Amino acid sequence: MTLRTIRQRVPAFEVTEGAGVSVHRSIGTPALKNLDPFLMLDHFGSDNPDEYIAGFPEHPHRGFITFTYMLDGHMGHRDSMGNRGDLQAGGAQWMKAASGVIHSEMPQQTNGLMRGFQLWINLPAAEKMSDPGYQEFSAAAIPEVARDGARVRVLAGEFDGVRGVVDDPATAVLYLDVGLTAGATFSLPLADSRNAFVYVFEGDAQLAGDALPRHTLAVLGQGDRFEIAAGGQGARFILVAGRPIGEPVVQSGPFVMNTREEIEQAFADYRDGRLVRTRAAMTGH
Ligand code: MN
Repeated sequence: MTLRTIRQRVPAFEVTEGAGVSVHRSIGTPALKNLDPFLMLDHFGSDNPDEYIAGFPEHPHRGFITFTYMLDGHMGHRDSMGNRGDLQAGGAQWMKAASGVIHSEMPQQTNGLMRGFQLWINLPAAEKMSDPGYQEFSAAAIPEVARDGARVRVLAGEFDGVRGVVDDPATAVLYLDVGLTAGATFSLPLADSRNAFVYVFEGDAQLAGDALPRHTLAVLGQGDRFEIAAGGQGARFILVAGRPIGEPVVQSGPFVMNTREEIEQAFADYRDGRLVRTRAAMTGH
């Protein structure tokens, strides 16, 4: 057994996205361009009730999956597949953009709070131009496991024999939201073949004796077991792992393909109204 240590620390840094939304990005920055199969991790949030949150008006995606997890607040959304709704706190949205989706994402505060994560998960070449898909899960639908000072929400993959709501055959993503009481230790087997990271968003933790501060993404090194200990205030973090795809990644804005030509095609298709094969009405909000 080899414990996974911290291979790289990536402090999240603030970027402005959409119509002026401030997000803390860790994957998808100069320090960590991507972590195959993960292309981007944004931690968005606001605790200022007076802050105007404009959201992400209509925009396209092609070639990957967006996975959004709301912690606080809610997010109105509409897409070209005809899905529309209001993702509530604790809920998750799995959107396979694949060949092309146009959507809007409008996070909003509840009682002055808004907080969540958006993870971009790459698709293998064979699936980049497949049909798009959409799945949405309420907080109540996401299984929760309580164990020795830990409360684990299983969003994707499997933990302790409990299957998460999302099953992703292409990259076998594991996505856990783990809350630990002060001083609690949490561990699980984590296959060496998976790239993995942990991101603490409440309290602080220690991994193999190394401090893991809040709002810093830690890329995990090689090993087959993950073990973490919460500090004196407890800790809450996401642990995410996936099977690397091992193909070239060419990214430009909202499109992630394998070659420069495919990116140019995506821009041309969007310009000519061909990004989305069948488009549902998306008027109003
Ligand atoms: Mn989007």
